[in-house]
Amino acid sequence: MLIRTKISYYFHIFAPADISKIAVMKEIRILDKTFRELITEKAILCRIDELARQMNNDLAGKDVVFLGILNGAFLFAADLFRRINLQARISFVKLASYEGTSSSGSIKELIGWNEDIKNKTIVVIEDIVDTGNTLERIVDELVIRKASEIKIAAMLYKPAAYTKDIPIDYVGFKIPNDFVVGYGLDYDGYGRNLSSVYTLIK
Ligand code: 5GP
Repeated sequence: MLIRTKISYYFHIFAPADISKIAVMKEIRILDKTFRELITEKAILCRIDELARQMNNDLAGKDVVFLGILNGAFLFAADLFRRINLQARISFVKLASYEGTSSSGSIKELIGWNEDIKNKTIVVIEDIVDTGNTLERIVDELVIRKASEIKIAAMLYKPAAYTKDIPIDYVGFKIPNDFVVGYGLDYDGYGRNLSSVYTLIK
């Protein structure tokens, strides 16, 4: 089996009988690496509720196109978009910049543009913003295609790795500069189906 889940129970200084005080550290193994749960499914969905509420307020009355960046943002895009009550459309484009657990540095071709975004408010839906190279590439393309307004939503954001000035309007969680998987994000193609976000420990 490619993904194994191990649950370790750590009894804190509280009385062990108090079940609510037991910290559960979930670990999983994908291929040759071990990851530990960093953000639970419940925390992710609560945060998306908040982000959607904010967007519904901020963008009320506008003609909005949500633009999901594949592959990683497909779960975030779905969970976010179903909470949006604006008159809105959604479309997806695809590119890739990562192989294994370190950036290859090369940004590949953007494919899948089939939406006329001229004079539209665009909300870019990113799974994670790391260096910001991908984001910059997408924003450049949106400017060329004459979007009237560009908003950025990122489920995860690594401030320590970010090298750009583009403001990220909606951030799910700021995380340390470590490799993560789950909730759409993969390690060599695996782990996208995990409901929580896990961080690499070894
Ligand atoms: P950036 O261009 O901002 O450096 O990286 C953005 C893309 O790299 C993301 O859309 C994602 O596909 C990938 N990426 C960046 N950090 C991570 C990470 O910690 N885990 C995984 N699985 N992918 C990452």
